[in-house]
Amino acid sequence: MEQVDAVVVGAGVVGLAVGRALARRGLETVVLEGATAVGTGTSSRNSEVIHAGLYYPAGSWKARLCVAGKEMLYRYCAERGVEHRRCGKLVVASSEGQLPELQQLIRRAAANGVTDLRLLDAAEAIRLEPALACVGAVLSPSTGIVDSHGLMLALQGDLEAAGGALALASPVERVCATAAGLVLEVGGDTGMTLQTRLLVNAAGLWAPALAGRIEGLDPALVPRAYFAKGNYYALSGRAPFSRLVYPVPEAAGLGVHLTLDLGGQARFGPDVEWLTPDEDGALDYRVDPARAEGFYAEIRRYWPELPEGALQPAYSGIRPKIQAPGEPARDFVIQGPAEHGIAGLVNLFGIESPGLTASLALGEAAAGLASAT
Ligand SMILES: Cc1cc2nc3c(=O)[nH]c(=O)nc-3n(C[C@H](O)[C@H](O)[C@H](O)COP(=O)(O)OP(=O)(O)OC[C@H]3O[C@@H](n4cnc5c(N)ncnc54)[C@H](O)[C@@H]3O)c2cc1C
Repeated sequence: MEQVDAVVVGAGVVGLAVGRALARRGLETVVLEGATAVGTGTSSRNSEVIHAGLYYPAGSWKARLCVAGKEMLYRYCAERGVEHRRCGKLVVASSEGQLPELQQLIRRAAANGVTDLRLLDAAEAIRLEPALACVGAVLSPSTGIVDSHGLMLALQGDLEAAGGALALASPVERVCATAAGLVLEVGGDTGMTLQTRLLVNAAGLWAPALAGRIEGLDPALVPRAYFAKGNYYALSGRAPFSRLVYPVPEAAGLGVHLTLDLGGQARFGPDVEWLTPDEDGALDYRVDPARAEGFYAEIRRYWPELPEGALQPAYSGIRPKIQAPGEPARDFVIQGPAEHGIAGLVNLFGIESPGLTASLALGEAAAGLASAT
């Protein structure tokens, strides 16, 4: 049986960041990925926004890791040449009734240590973005965008430079917690058994499913997984704005917002569509062109000039939720030995947005927790 110091399951942006952090601590680290490439899950199906940290309850993991992760990410991208842009974003109120929500956003952001927000009246906002319609807005200058794939390749490079390894097409089928360490059954063409002292479950949408196959882990500690798809529609033609534009936030997502890619192309999304996996456990990523209908009305609240027929189905991503539809949003769960009693094991559950922004900070937190035991 092969033996290593540390294994990370999942080569999304979070798993790669955890693997990098463990390898840089001098631990012999292997990242196991079931797919044949890195980042084929949620990490390549998102808005690629570097969030400032406005929305999350003060003191939550989401708030702390987003704010810390944002700074780490900007620094990292600059050092490693990962394409990114600090383009800023406007959160816009479309009615007088939404103005108090902007104030509330400024207060919540300040509680999270984000103190650079500016409240703008309609004229000031429209001076910045002439195509905008609104009654007021908040400007977040530290919001940006990043090339998520470039980021993952840089993290993989760091992992390997620190002596770590990435094994693709290596799905982890089950784990057994023994007195000598954690024993993993790995499937795929080669198939192997691997023993490790430290194990971080960064399997994204499938993290609860994998945790359910860890013998020795109390099933009561494994949250039920829920899947909330977000569909995106690309705008044909030129982007009407140079900053990201968001409506005030809504229940299970941040509202249908406008994001820009690094090529300057605009896309709108994501909406919220709750899914159940089919009988083979697969999730449907297809984007239904008919759902674009609902987008037009929402977008025209802040961009009335949106031409009819300008939205084309683009792609979708699925949020790894750990609460049922209608239940209050849950924080990231970083579950270590203090919760489950298994030395060296860390489960990451519910790593939805802002997981991309938080990835470097989350990587350090999970690596620190695993290696402290
Ligand atoms: C619609 C949408 C928009 C978002 N927008 C943003 C945004 O703008 N900014 C932001 O900060 N965050 C955003 N996020 C959140 C962000 O994308 C995620 O938090 C982040 O990508 C999660 O990364 P991950 O590595 O945990 O998961 P994933 O990228 O899903 O990686 C998990 C990996 O584990 C692998 N795996 C699963 N099971 C096994 C197994 N048993 N064995 C081996 N491998 C396995 C999978 O194949 C996958 O590659 C968004 C999310 C969604 C859904």
